[in-house]
Amino acid sequence: MIGTPASAGQTGCWNNPPVETGESKKVLLSAQGLVKTYRHGRVVQAVQGVSLRLVAAEVLAFLGPNGAGKSTCIKMLAGLVEPDGGEIEVLGQRLARNPGIKREIGVVLEGNRNLYWRMTPLENLIYFGRLRGIGYKEARRRSIELLERLDLSEKRNSLVQQLSRGMQQKVAIAAALVHNPRILLLDEPALGLDVVGAESLKRILRELTAEGRAVLIATHQLDIAEALANKVVVLNKGCLVADAKLNELIARFSREVFEIEVGETLSPEVTSKLEAAGALVEQQIISAPGEFADIWPVLALVKDLRVTRVERARASLSGVYLKLLGGEDVSARP
Ligand code: ADP
Repeated sequence: MIGTPASAGQTGCWNNPPVETGESKKVLLSAQGLVKTYRHGRVVQAVQGVSLRLVAAEVLAFLGPNGAGKSTCIKMLAGLVEPDGGEIEVLGQRLARNPGIKREIGVVLEGNRNLYWRMTPLENLIYFGRLRGIGYKEARRRSIELLERLDLSEKRNSLVQQLSRGMQQKVAIAAALVHNPRILLLDEPALGLDVVGAESLKRILRELTAEGRAVLIATHQLDIAEALANKVVVLNKGCLVADAKLNELIARFSREVFEIEVGETLSPEVTSKLEAAGALVEQQIISAPGEFADIWPVLALVKDLRVTRVERARASLSGVYLKLLGGEDVSARP
């Protein structure tokens, strides 16, 4: 399901169809038609009818520009903000009627307020474990185990404020996992991470997903989203713009252009003929838009040259994302 910027207009969402049911995959969380309006002074329709679902052993990348409504959705999914409309089911139980089911959710909110900075990682984890109903001994055992798993054992007795940003993020993820939830919601977990930190985050999330957890990750780092996601949901102005499998989304946008590479410099004559045929020429690479059948006239123009490569260009998630949002910058403020 893919919308266009035009279909997600200023005045409300395009008709957001209900999330399909009956698929064999195990749905751990589903949300239907979530709505949230903030009314502190100015009225903000933050979320205007968003439906999604999280499936066991899958990562859902939750994308959209700043102010799109991602954090508000995550807070509603985690039971931290009450929706004005819509329904959330966790393991088939309605969240509004069974608040205890929140135990199946672990959440890392955006920013650095997920932990107590003047406590150690071990103290934080035990505290959050106790808060979520685990006995002291079990909380301590799980905390030590998690810190070891996330390569944080050495730092377990340092103050959180003395740790690097990457380490703090890992501790925040550990704190969200201490009660062993099946669903993990992460709001911008990669913000400020260096390359090593981002790789380590990806490895951890892959492992957690392979264990059968459902993971939602909201991020502006589209390379991380592309590396991890099975599905992609894009929000804009509180509305759903796309909800599709990552591969389908990329394939859909990749169909549009073929790249033809030649092993020699193109003459100005051939270049102008190629351009007249609708191709774009950049040094020795010719980009021909259209389906396979459409590129024959372009190929005919280079038939006497040394063609070294003809392939369908694969779109990147960032390219797809920019197209879906009509070229809007990911960091654009509302
Ligand atoms: P995102 O996570 O995609 O950046 P948010 O959910 O944080 O989006 O915000 C969506 C909209 O709701 C924005 O216009 C934001 O300013 C507004 N908003 C978020 N939280 C509040 C709040 N507590 N009170 C009032 N407005 C809010």
